[in-house]
Amino acid sequence: MPIPGNPLAYTLVYALETPRGPVLVDAGWEHEDAWDALSGGLAAFGMDVADVYGVVVTHHHPDHAGLAGRVREASGAWIAMHRADADLVRAFRAMVEQDADRAWMSDSLRRAGAREADLADGSHRRPVDPPAQPDRELEDRDLIDVPGRRLRAIWTPGHSPGHLCLHLEDGDRIFTGDHVLPRITPHIGLYPYERTDVDPLGDFLASLARVGDLPVDEVLPAHQFRFHGLAARTRDIAAHHEARLAELAALLTGEPRTLWDLASALIWREAWPEMSLQSRQMAAGEAAAHLRVLESRGQASRRSDDPLTFTAR
Ligand SMILES: [Zn+2]
Ligand SMILES: [Zn+2]
Repeated sequence: MPIPGNPLAYTLVYALETPRGPVLVDAGWEHEDAWDALSGGLAAFGMDVADVYGVVVTHHHPDHAGLAGRVREASGAWIAMHRADADLVRAFRAMVEQDADRAWMSDSLRRAGAREADLADGSHRRPVDPPAQPDRELEDRDLIDVPGRRLRAIWTPGHSPGHLCLHLEDGDRIFTGDHVLPRITPHIGLYPYERTDVDPLGDFLASLARVGDLPVDEVLPAHQFRFHGLAARTRDIAAHHEARLAELAALLTGEPRTLWDLASALIWREAWPEMSLQSRQMAAGEAAAHLRVLESRGQASRRSDDPLTFTAR
């Protein structure tokens, strides 16, 4: 299903046939073109959106959960996601109702060392459009209500706190959402940057190890293409982050450096000066997530919170 105007281009949405109607794995971006692709795709298999029995969402991001609410309206389907992402959706909805202007993000950016020019376009204040609240909340190892099949939820926090991989135990396949993709690595960011109560990259690396050993044949990710060799791919992604951790550790000295300064000194696909402000904010989120891991490994020290600065340990 297309994601209009996004470099990811499309989300792979899967439909599992059951006697009660299809169960979807993810639902795609909320856009008319995506809706047409979903209806057309199901029709190609003699299915109708109105017959959908349930939607399991791998995580709350809009390219996965966006259309779930519209599918539920059209079919009466249940929507399921992990409890941690359901909590986030609840928090987002409350934030939108209170018309919160995401002032916490400007504060976090300022503390991280962002300059006025980095805040100028206001993209950090753009309101989030939360997806539909799920009807069912899943926990690790739950069997999902897919009549006649064995689809098990595997909690893989990191890219989002409630990210799920879905193991089709009777079909030798795994749906990996954004957790394991064949050629790209998912965004792992820490927000607000100064947080110390969570460790998304540490969680992500542990989650990679959790699925790496599963005895599955085919891997069905949410972007790019299907592939084989889950164990090797999880090792490659872990190695990518280890290289990134080493690159960041090498930038640390005895002199405190702000998060912004450190993020801008890392090598990115796009040169820092050419990056959009939103890309810089995400790059700083990734750098913050890596610094959390360096802190927990004893390789980095947080020197101050405002401004947010780090030194070598
Ligand atoms: Zn995502
Ligand atoms: Zn995605």
